[in-house]
Amino acid sequence: MPKLVHSHFRASRSLRARRPRSQQITGMANTAALSLFVASLFGVLAFSTLPGSGQSKQTSKSTNVSAAVTNTQLRNDLNWIFGGKPQRGWYLYTPLINRLINNKSDSGSPQFASAVARWQQKAGLKPAGILDDETLYAMIKAWQEARLKDRTPATPDQLLLAPISDFYDPTRAEELRQVERKTYAAYKRMVAAAIADHSLGLAHTSRGELAPGEKYLKIISAFRSREYQDKLRRESPNSGTAGLAVNSPHFTGRALDVYVGGEPVDTRDSNRALQVQTRVYQWLVRNAERYGFRPYCYEPWHWEFVK
Ligand SMILES: [Zn+2]
Repeated sequence: MPKLVHSHFRASRSLRARRPRSQQITGMANTAALSLFVASLFGVLAFSTLPGSGQSKQTSKSTNVSAAVTNTQLRNDLNWIFGGKPQRGWYLYTPLINRLINNKSDSGSPQFASAVARWQQKAGLKPAGILDDETLYAMIKAWQEARLKDRTPATPDQLLLAPISDFYDPTRAEELRQVERKTYAAYKRMVAAAIADHSLGLAHTSRGELAPGEKYLKIISAFRSREYQDKLRRESPNSGTAGLAVNSPHFTGRALDVYVGGEPVDTRDSNRALQVQTRVYQWLVRNAERYGFRPYCYEPWHWEFVK
């Protein structure tokens, strides 16, 4: 994209240098064409509200174009609430949204709007193609409902001690390296698949494990005892309900925080914006389900084994 913009910029500059007047005229013609386009857009929209006009192909196309304009604004500006905290925009969730609505196009495109509309239809919402607060809350509900339901704390026999080489912190204490057995097996299968996907460029050993110097997908935190969680909460009392839950899925040993870039577990938007753009995070969004892992939308690093 930046390349395109650049070459276009160069072309118009050389045009202006040669023929300044015609460039001006072209500019005017462009404005006229745009007004005409906007006018026709409104025309189609207005026409579609007439009784009996039906839902023509052209109408839904124009609706998607205007929904795309609104989505481009809302992805950065929508005001909404999560865990009692005000949030702005939904751009941090585009990888998850794209997976949910089965879309590959940019979130500001008519194709995206069209995919939103299809999802809205299925979810029993008005299929306008605009990702507004009502639609976002419905999506969050879908993600939250797919999470681990049984949060019964793990018993010692359900846990194993994972080797230090699996962890992000090479000095992590043994009591903080316990993982539920099936979750650990699934994690290892998932990591092997990520290593085998060379587009991720993960450094690995000859035995097909993450290299000591590789940070991505290493475990930051797995099983936490209730006592340890209480201690964490005392240390950061302002983390709110979105942060350190009283009834944490980490008690089960089936929740893993894995490294996906940036600051490992920092919920600031600027940090999460970094994380959701990494290849590893986007790979997890597309593939983790295959290994039984589902996301917690608010924390790009937090994945739960639900099988
Ligand atoms: Zn977590």
